Amino acid sequence: MTEKRQPFRAEVSRLLDIVVHSLYSEKEIFLRELISNASDACDKLRYEALTQPELISEGSSFKISIVADPKARTLTVTDNGIGMSRDDLIENLGTIAQSGTAAFLEQLNSSQKSDMTLIGQFGVGFYAAFMVAQMVEVKSRKAGSSEAWCWRSDGKGEFAVEEDNKSGNGTEVIIYLKQSEDEFLNEDRLRSIVNRHSDHIAIPIMVGNSETPANRASALWLRNKNEITADQYKEFYHHVARTFEEPALTVHWKAEGKIEYTGLLFAPGVKPFDLFDPKRKHGVKLYVKRVFITDEAEGLVPPYLRFMRGIIDSEDLPLNLSREMLQHNPMLAKIRQGIIRRVLGDLNKFSENKETYAKFWDNFGAVIKEGLYEDLEHREELLKIVRCRSTYGESATSLAEYVSRMKEGQEAIYYINGDNAETLSRSPHLEGFKARGIEVLLLTDQVDDFWPGAVIEFEGKKFKSATRAGQDLEKIKPTNDADKKSEKDSSPMEGDLVSLMTLLKTILGDSIKDVRKSERLTDSAVCLSSDEGDIDIHLERFLKQHNQIRTPSLRIMEVNPRHPLVKLLAEKAGEDGASGKLSDIAWLLLDQAKLMDGENIGDPLEFNRRLSKVLVKAVG
Ligand code: ADP
Ligand code: MG
Repeated sequence: MTEKRQPFRAEVSRLLDIVVHSLYSEKEIFLRELISNASDACDKLRYEALTQPELISEGSSFKISIVADPKARTLTVTDNGIGMSRDDLIENLGTIAQSGTAAFLEQLNSSQKSDMTLIGQFGVGFYAAFMVAQMVEVKSRKAGSSEAWCWRSDGKGEFAVEEDNKSGNGTEVIIYLKQSEDEFLNEDRLRSIVNRHSDHIAIPIMVGNSETPANRASALWLRNKNEITADQYKEFYHHVARTFEEPALTVHWKAEGKIEYTGLLFAPGVKPFDLFDPKRKHGVKLYVKRVFITDEAEGLVPPYLRFMRGIIDSEDLPLNLSREMLQHNPMLAKIRQGIIRRVLGDLNKFSENKETYAKFWDNFGAVIKEGLYEDLEHREELLKIVRCRSTYGESATSLAEYVSRMKEGQEAIYYINGDNAETLSRSPHLEGFKARGIEVLLLTDQVDDFWPGAVIEFEGKKFKSATRAGQDLEKIKPTNDADKKSEKDSSPMEGDLVSLMTLLKTILGDSIKDVRKSERLTDSAVCLSSDEGDIDIHLERFLKQHNQIRTPSLRIMEVNPRHPLVKLLAEKAGEDGASGKLSDIAWLLLDQAKLMDGENIGDPLEFNRRLSKVLVKAVG
């Protein structure tokens, strides 16, 4: 059959360019990537052979071999795994399978100074071979098939696939080394690379003609913790997670008793680009007695831990378990419970290390918080590891720390939702809280609109939005005595204030729910709040954006009796014709309050007209 040349998909070409020229500081890791693929291929065949034993010829065992040919200047990595058909070769080596990669590359194009190291999280894998190769050939025969195919490319934009012959199933990757890469012909060097990056691979890796494997060839997760170095854990993480940064947390445990399994899970050190992509798969592989079963066992980890990577190896699940049978398996549900308990427990310990935990929380906190309303059973554990920004300081606080700082007479944990912590901390809603030294949590993640309402309480303290009216700030003394004094001295007469509030209600009519005297405001004249039991302002805006709500609920206008403008208005409120004279000002106050909340004002033209009118009067 004649050779057919095909171009790489556009994103592959671009990726190749990045990989070859700027990605890795250490070229030797190309070998780790090829070994990693060979090991995956053996895992896949081992699984297929559970139901089709004829796929594996009798007496043969899985093996990866690395052979250098100094004369031909080639390096060949061979496995007897699942192999690839012609279509597999084109699909797997000519396109990028991982979700999000193409999208990420688009971003790289649009912004010039992107961080190249970030690309590592997509596991460019196979293409790393082009760092040292002037040409790569992949000869492969799929298990169960008699056809063999050869894929060939110089990594410069095109590849070709032609028919070939090959005895036995599996894949041979032949690297034609570049002139400068002779070091990879040296067997000692190759052995030390295997030892350094691939010791955790559970299949024997043979270098040259040596009879002893260059790795320990036992499943890393079954070794004792104290026999595994940090580097070995890291290399294993790179293999399972297909990334190459340091993991933020390593959780390794053995569950014994009614159900037995080993878990080796990692929290990534960087945030994946597709963390919130609903199509994103979780990254925990399920093994049964060392045999890889699937990386798509739904229900193995809860959605709010979907960023975790690693393996679970069960002793009890049946080996002939089909992927479909996994759907509602009670044993799996038990393992899931164990995983949650273990991971949350370790995260709690991890959280004592404030600085590194803060970075982790920045990356994954928004996902974990989904658990607060999804997983009632573990809510208490989850609340322990939650961190939030607050008005107390720059760094995030735990809820326990918040409670320990609560003021005398303070009964609730106060929070406010918004898009940005800095803006929120200046919100008029918080003025009265500040005056009393009461800390307020500043919640800026989208999920924060949902969980405080669902959680209800922590250590017996209720969560309460600072934007709700009826906050009992009266019970708590302002820290600043001067404030209190000036309040008594200069507040308008109660009667005048009542007239003003009635007047505002008459003018603004159906645009507001009520007008009330504010306990919380110190600097602003008015603000809008939601009534006890009404939907939170920020949540309502979110729902409105997503067309979940048509008619917004009405707000309460709070007026600050200590504000000079309010005092002036109160004096005039009882006069004849006040409702006509003060009408423009009332509407302006309402728009002003809306703007402070980041909301749209209904009619900007009307707003302008009123403002001009009032300004003319003020100057004239
Ligand atoms: P990844 O391993 O992250 O999927 P790679 O670039 O390393 O990405 O490999 C791409 C794909 O090529 C693999 O997912 C696999 O389907 C296929 N592949 C690569 N090497 C082998 C091999 N030795 N045997 C079988 N399939 C392979
Ligand atoms: Mg790979």
